[in-house]
Amino acid sequence: MNLALIAHDKKKETLVNFAIAYENILKKHNLFATGTTGKRIMEATSLEIHCFKSGPLGGDQQIGSAIANNHMDMVIFLRDPMTAQPHEPDIQALIRLCDVYMIPVATNIATGEILLKALERGDLEWRNFVKENNE
Ligand code: PGA
Repeated sequence: MNLALIAHDKKKETLVNFAIAYENILKKHNLFATGTTGKRIMEATSLEIHCFKSGPLGGDQQIGSAIANNHMDMVIFLRDPMTAQPHEPDIQALIRLCDVYMIPVATNIATGEILLKALERGDLEWRNFVKENNE
């Protein structure tokens, strides 16, 4: 499965700790991230991550494009609900595309944990079916 990891600045430490805790699950998948988030996770784990541009420089849109092209199966996007973001339209667009394409998306760590456990159980195998039928 192709997983996208994104965290706003105040949530990066949480996502790094999450990636450390779930490294054994994450390492079985293809990982993608916005620039700074991916760099931080790679520094703290042995995970290999394809890093897109930094979020405010278009990284969220690049992940949105991957979703539209059927290349993303899950998004964990730890948003900071207390701080205004300069790229708010990009954030909204990304969440919207998750809904358009029925991509499981977690915007907080509690849901992120549930999604990863579901992934480990094979609950997202239906994504393979969707991909095969859209290629
Ligand atoms: P970043 O982008 O990982 O490059 O900081 C995240 C975001 O703010 O969308």
